Amino acid sequence: MAKHKKQRILIVEDEADLRTTLKFNFKEHGYKVSTAANGRVGLEKARAKKPDLIILDLMLPEMDGLTLMRILRQESDVPVLMLTARSSEIDKIMGLENGADDYLTKPFSLGELLARVRALLRRADRMTTRNVLSSGPIELDLVSRRATLHQRPLELSPKEFNLLAELMRHERAVLSRDLLLTQVWGYEFVGDTRTVDVHIRWLREKIEEDPSHPVMIQTVRGIGYRFESAAAEIEQDEEE
Ligand code: CA
Repeated sequence: MAKHKKQRILIVEDEADLRTTLKFNFKEHGYKVSTAANGRVGLEKARAKKPDLIILDLMLPEMDGLTLMRILRQESDVPVLMLTARSSEIDKIMGLENGADDYLTKPFSLGELLARVRALLRRADRMTTRNVLSSGPIELDLVSRRATLHQRPLELSPKEFNLLAELMRHERAVLSRDLLLTQVWGYEFVGDTRTVDVHIRWLREKIEEDPSHPVMIQTVRGIGYRFESAAAEIEQDEEE
C-alpha cells in the first residue's frame, strides 16, 4: 500500500540554533515538524500533535528529558530518540524500562540522525501496520475499532466496520458477495447475498462523496465489489 501521509517529528531542544537546524533539515526531507524549547511545552505538544517520533534532548529547562519520557511512556509508545551531551548518561537513558528507543551523543552528524530516525520510524511502522488499516482518507483502527474519514470520526456499525476492513485488506482486488458474506457474517450465517449489497449501500452513504457514483467501493458486475481509495490527499505543510 502506498504511503502518502507525511510523518510528524517533534523536536524538543532548548538550543535554538540546533532546534532551527534540525527543523529545517527534517522539513527538507519531507517530514512535518513541531518544535518545543523546553520539556513542559514538549510534553504538551507530544500530547496535542501525536507525533510519529520525538527527538528529545536530555537536559532541558522546566522539565528534563527523562522526566518527560517517563510521563509520556505511561500514555504512548511513540519512538523516542534521545540527544545527550554526556556519554555518561547513556546507560541511564537506555537502561530504563520502556526508555528511549535510541540515542545520539552531541555533537552528531545530520546524516547519522536522519538514518536513525528513518530506522525507528520503519520499525514503528511495522508494529502498527497490523493494527491500523489506512487508505486514502480512511483509517480503521482494528484494536479500538474506531474509524475516521478525513481525520474525522466515522460512525460505522460493527458489520459495516468489518465489511470495510475486509475490502480495505484486499485493496484493488475483486471480492465476491459470497466471500464477503462468509468473511464478514461468518459461515453460520444463512443469508442472502443481498445483505451484502444493503450494507455496501450504507457504507457508500457514509464514505463516498456522491453515493450514487461511488469511487471507493466499486461494483464489479456479476461478481462483487472492489475497494480502491481515492488518490492521496495533498497535505498542507504545517508550521510548528
Ligand atoms: Ca539541552
